[in-house]
Amino acid sequence: MSGQTQRALVTGSTSGIGLSIARRFARMGFDVAVNSHENEPEANTALREISEGADGQVRYFRADLADPAQSFGLVEQVIAAFGGLDILVNNAGVQKVAPVESLPAADWDRILAISLDSSFHTIRAAIPGMVARGWGRIINIASAHGLRASPFKSAYVATKHGIIGLTKTVALEVAERGVTVNAICPGYVWTPLVAQQVADQAKVHGISEDAVIRDIILAPQPTRQFVQPEEIAEMAAYLCGPLARSITGTAISIDGGWTAK
Ligand code: NAD
Repeated sequence: MSGQTQRALVTGSTSGIGLSIARRFARMGFDVAVNSHENEPEANTALREISEGADGQVRYFRADLADPAQSFGLVEQVIAAFGGLDILVNNAGVQKVAPVESLPAADWDRILAISLDSSFHTIRAAIPGMVARGWGRIINIASAHGLRASPFKSAYVATKHGIIGLTKTVALEVAERGVTVNAICPGYVWTPLVAQQVADQAKVHGISEDAVIRDIILAPQPTRQFVQPEEIAEMAAYLCGPLARSITGTAISIDGGWTAK
């Protein structure tokens, strides 16, 4: 799409990968809707970071994506504020590490609600406008865990496999309408979500946090290096460009070789 400021929503964009994507989009001149479930003052540091060097608008939209009505309503609010939505990045996600038999059912429900169900609701709210304009980009942040499993992550792995299925299905439904739908599948990226997991894994396995990073976290990642959030943001930026119009329905790995095995 050319000549018009693109309007993007990045869910869960006050931290980690989402923050990096929002910052990248803001520097590309997009209007950017920043979201999390926090109150606006808690999001201020992230908003300042995203606004630095921004050409378009940067606005905050609080919504708890565990709630289907707030997920759908978030897209409606962004459309009302920006006059439309061209790019949707479903990024918000949460994690809990526990053996399946001791994972509380409430945690299972919450992980599925935030990381999978919310994407269904944001997508169904965003698609009609994109289809009507004949242009749109939907990017779902899945994971290497959308393609491979690891023990003690049943809910997380289930949501990430699920989001890849949703990605492929919606891509087929809108393929002739100028809308692409893709999943990005990062390996381990150093963000607060992973830092929390290091602590949780240390408890589950009864080992030190250093040992968790060396022997568990980076063990499946052949490069033995964390992916940086900016690498994911760069792929998201590419997928929004004109030369990416034929990339749809894919699960793009950025995982240091993890899924080559
Ligand atoms: P993070 O914890 O740094 O950030 C998560 C963001 O989601 C935050 O802005 C948080 O406020 C928001 N969020 C959490 N619960 C929410 C809710 N109920 N409603 C609205 N927003 C909510 O996490 P991250 O590591 O940047 O992960 C981002 C995405 O990337 C997730 O979907 C995650 O599964 C995926 N991912 C991360 C890694 C990794 O190694 N970090 C690897 C593969 C995939």
